[in-house]
Amino acid sequence: MRQVAIYGKGGIGKSTTTQNTVAALAEAGKQVMVVGCDPKADSTRLLLGGLCQKTVLDTLRDEGDDIELDAILKAGFRNTRCVESGGPEPGVGCAGRGIITSINMLESLGAYTPDLDYVFYDVLGDVVCGGFAMPIREGKAEEIYIVASGELMALYAANNISKGIKKYATSGKVRLGGIICNSRKVDNELSLLQAFAEELGSQLIHFVPRDNVVQRAEIHKKTVIDFEPEAGQAAEYRKLAAAIDGNEMFVVPKPMTQDRLEELMMQHGFLDAIA
Ligand code: ADP
Ligand code: MG
Repeated sequence: MRQVAIYGKGGIGKSTTTQNTVAALAEAGKQVMVVGCDPKADSTRLLLGGLCQKTVLDTLRDEGDDIELDAILKAGFRNTRCVESGGPEPGVGCAGRGIITSINMLESLGAYTPDLDYVFYDVLGDVVCGGFAMPIREGKAEEIYIVASGELMALYAANNISKGIKKYATSGKVRLGGIICNSRKVDNELSLLQAFAEELGSQLIHFVPRDNVVQRAEIHKKTVIDFEPEAGQAAEYRKLAAAIDGNEMFVVPKPMTQDRLEELMMQHGFLDAIA
């Protein structure tokens, strides 16, 4: 069983990319569980065909600790197993707590069955700290992918996340598997992201184009793989899934200084664009 965590700046496309990748893996016959680690609880909407009725934290709050696995784990597209950790009421308590509670609950209820090929954790946060570090801190996910784009703030977050991974990698087995570019159509985005990944000592594992079919599928509460399986964008997600499935490059990342990051952007984005 490979346990994969997806990190990246808020709104960068973690949940969309994760669910489409998971759908592609499921389509290829893999058994996959997705654990949403974002209080927004929208990590499994496209697989379930609608928002998860009840998060783990809600269920525990309403029904107490004595629950069955099927109260928190729902079957989605092609039998993907979907869980949403949930979060505290806004403004109350640590948002990371849901993740800790959920993972412990999933363990004690026997959700990590041996037939699983993959568990994906879709984790919110620009930095890896507190509860949001839980999937990697506790040695659950050993494989991380960071979703980024050519925008400075996305790369800034990706670099910070790499600092967190580096910290936990020194004491544990967690490694960076690659950077996923979710394109924002920034000038020279491909070469910038390649250079950024290389500077980290990692790789750009796939460049996912920006395409409005993602929005059309989203309105229908579906992944692109499900909604328009013949679309070029569906093929891109299948390529990403295949790249992750065949990945052999796992590294302790080498985060860069802010100055170096800005220099990279100047070289690859700005200067190339005006040349
Ligand atoms: P996150 O989980 O990182 O907060 P989401 O996956 O919710 O981000 O994505 C934010 C929005 O970006 C979504 O509403 C989605 O429609 C859009 N989006 C994500 N990836 C793409 C893409 N490749 N092309 C077009 N729109 C995208
Ligand atoms: Mg999300």
